[in-house]
Amino acid sequence: MNDVTQFTRADWQARADALTFRDRIWIDGAAVPAASGQRFASVNPANGAILAEVARGGAADIDRAVASARRAFEDGRWSRQIPSARKEVLLRLAALIRENVPELALLDSLDMGKLVREAATIDAPGSAHFFQWHAEAIDKLYDEIAPTGGRDLAMVRRVPLGVIGAVVPWNFPLDMATWKLAPALAMGNSVVLKPAEQSPLSALRLAELAAEAGLPDGVLNVVPGFGEDAGQALGRHPDVDCLVFTGSTAVGKLFQRYAGESNMKQVWLETGGKSPNLIFPDADLDAAADMAAFGIFFNQGEVCSANSRMLVHASIADDMIERMAARAARAQPGDPLDPGAAMGPLVDRRHADTVMGFIDNGRQSARLVCGGERLTISGSDAYVQPTIFAGAAPDARIVREEIFGPVLSIQTFTTEDEALALANDTPYGLAASVWTRDLGRALSVADRLVAGTVSVNTVDALSAMTPFGGMKQSGFGRDLSIHSFDKYSALKTTWIKF
Ligand code: NAD
Repeated sequence: MNDVTQFTRADWQARADALTFRDRIWIDGAAVPAASGQRFASVNPANGAILAEVARGGAADIDRAVASARRAFEDGRWSRQIPSARKEVLLRLAALIRENVPELALLDSLDMGKLVREAATIDAPGSAHFFQWHAEAIDKLYDEIAPTGGRDLAMVRRVPLGVIGAVVPWNFPLDMATWKLAPALAMGNSVVLKPAEQSPLSALRLAELAAEAGLPDGVLNVVPGFGEDAGQALGRHPDVDCLVFTGSTAVGKLFQRYAGESNMKQVWLETGGKSPNLIFPDADLDAAADMAAFGIFFNQGEVCSANSRMLVHASIADDMIERMAARAARAQPGDPLDPGAAMGPLVDRRHADTVMGFIDNGRQSARLVCGGERLTISGSDAYVQPTIFAGAAPDARIVREEIFGPVLSIQTFTTEDEALALANDTPYGLAASVWTRDLGRALSVADRLVAGTVSVNTVDALSAMTPFGGMKQSGFGRDLSIHSFDKYSALKTTWIKF
């Protein structure tokens, strides 16, 4: 039986019990221990069990990985393959990901607590799709001849950059890695990937699948480890040409500093968010409430573009608060292997502590509509109820800071200008949503919202075809779409006088 939507909890548990975890560093096409011999525990937040003791990569391992990536890039085993040949390898990788959806979904679910049902229907198929999309795009990108005229021929070509360092977070472990790897590899670069210490397992399996698909040794290296050692070593490495990062704004700023203090490598950042969701009275309120609940409770709210602020017109505020409370009641957390659960645990106890800190602060600054409690399930207290606050002041912490948990703050407005002022009053600018049936209002509000993506009458619209990324302190540069290739290539001019 291969239809993952039909798997029961027992089916998932049986597959989980049969898993073998890849627990070593992947360098030059082989699994190796850390140079230091150190390991760290990969813990399942759903029950506190240790899944694996994973090799803890440090600066020496990053050195080895970068050297392997550099050798591969320079000898052209991948970088000088023609685009259609690279395409074939990445299409095989996409097919292998599809064949291994249950395993890849389980690795992420066990490692960081997301619902396995969603990992198997969204994350893992998404990863295959993104590899396929970028693979198929790469032999359709044409270069340019500049219109110089005369006895000159000026060719403007996209060329790969060399060695890419990629540092990614734990909230969508497989997909965040894929968003970087698919365009970077399609373009012909070599990559050193450092997954988050909370979720190294799917990236290590992905490296093995890439080798099976025919990716030459050394082109993709995966070094699990902690941010302050492996991550920093990659950020400061003098032989890394470009560092792409998804994670918090604070750590993103560190990568800019690492680059400035080392070799001025390019740095592209996808960082935090505090995305507003504006509801006007003429909207389809049922649809708005359904999608707003998805926008904040999906993946336990551990989503960079989570719609964590609802701005609702005062005339419908009580109605919307009631609708949202009803949806929150149906979004209760449970065992992530249970297809009936609506949310899993947060990534770990420490993050649950942080989210509870925000909730405790929210109790002082706003009215608690529902939730607010920490739950213990299967011996783990990393579970937090879906939580809604109303009436917080614009300067309250729950309104200004990224919580990265299932916590929604509802504020009210009376005019369009007031809604926009509240929406844009944030250091972030990743995503925003607008709900209205008035097309003119939708377009003018969308135009004035400072965000990389504005969704109208939906939330968090996203596809391989559209660029994803932020404004302000949500970062710069874009993942996905043809534009993602900009981060992984340089424009090179070759001018011929004849
Ligand atoms: P994080 O910044 O703590 O960690 C991200 C990565 O950076 C991890 O691999 C970590 O090991 C590494 N890191 C941590 N400290 C480091 C240091 N001192 N030097 C070098 N590397 C270091 O973020 P997180 O908690 O894993 O993820 C949550 C954050 O990611 C949220 O802020 C969220 O908004 C953001 N995020 C953004 C996007 C986006 O596309 N904009 C997508 C997903 C998540």
